[in-house]
Amino acid sequence: MKVAVFSTKAYDRKFLSAANSSTQHELVFFEPRLNRDTAILAAGFPAVCVFVHDQVDAPTLELLASRGTRLVVLRCAGFNNVDLQAAADLGITVVRVPAYSPYGVAEHAVGLILSLNRKIHRAYNRVREGNFSLDGLLGFNLHERTIGIVGTGKIGLILGQIMKGFGCNLLAYDVYRNPELEALGGKYVELPELFANSDIISLHCPLTAETHHLINAEAIEQIKSGVMLINTSRGALIDTQAVIEGLKSGKIGYLGVDVYEQESELFFEDLSGAIIQDDIFQRLTTFPNVLITGHQAFFTAEALHNIAETTFANIADVEHGRPCANEIRAQVSA
Ligand code: NAD
Repeated sequence: MKVAVFSTKAYDRKFLSAANSSTQHELVFFEPRLNRDTAILAAGFPAVCVFVHDQVDAPTLELLASRGTRLVVLRCAGFNNVDLQAAADLGITVVRVPAYSPYGVAEHAVGLILSLNRKIHRAYNRVREGNFSLDGLLGFNLHERTIGIVGTGKIGLILGQIMKGFGCNLLAYDVYRNPELEALGGKYVELPELFANSDIISLHCPLTAETHHLINAEAIEQIKSGVMLINTSRGALIDTQAVIEGLKSGKIGYLGVDVYEQESELFFEDLSGAIIQDDIFQRLTTFPNVLITGHQAFFTAEALHNIAETTFANIADVEHGRPCANEIRAQVSA
């Protein structure tokens, strides 16, 4: 099948081309994001392949459909950037990669926890400048500390397993209980109890209307003073302005984030020569106890391999008229 691949980076090209060597689809790589201005590039392509920041809204889908596109292939799990109802109305099938790196994301969350706790990001710079002072680098043992995990699906469970290995106590909150987390000794509690008793809070639930700004001023009032807050899930789970106030007052002792509410303006691009206009983001970068990575938690070789393999398996299912387990329809919540 002829596939227009949008938002292509060198690593996408490498892993998709390798996985395509056996399937021989005709891949055409485009660097721009898909949106209503760039949809014309896909004219005559029965399939488009997109990532998290492509805007697959109704006008874009209408343009795609009018020029022959019948399949949208997401090379990610989240689909909040796709208007599924519009796709259904236009007869466009949408498929995704539901799981590709739960270990990678959980391990990245642990990386943020360890770095923030032991100030590795600061120590790295100090030592390179010949400053071997330990002042300001005091950490704490993870052993017997309590971690509160919000969202105990694939990633939250793996984080629980890893933190159990450090000797942490596990508190959890989810709309469904995961027996595997309970088997580890994890205790499900309501959010206020989790907020009040956790030394570290890590977010692993999806972004929905219910979870939007889950960490807001009211939640910050309930948390243990000096808490470490970790978000590798979706930026809008936290109200960044409220978190900045929490950092300024000291209520939040550490913040580690791989996602940011307005990240589509920033992440995945080299803006090192640009003047960044987002003052909220820039304020975050001034705190010594804040560590930000640019949506890289998923970014492991295993994940890119899995994404590419599943992407072509999804295309093959649709091409051959087989039911595709990874098809998403309008009634499924993101
Ligand atoms: P999952 O579907 O396996 O688990 C999500 C869990 O959240 C489920 O147990 C679900 O019941 C729970 N949940 C749903 N609504 C909730 C609510 N209101 N309150 C508390 N819990 C709720 O998903 P996963 O694979 O573990 O991924 C979790 C999230 O990680 C994804 O939604 C995605 O946003 C994010 N993610 C980030 C990256 C990255 O690179 N940073 C990569 C992949 C996934």
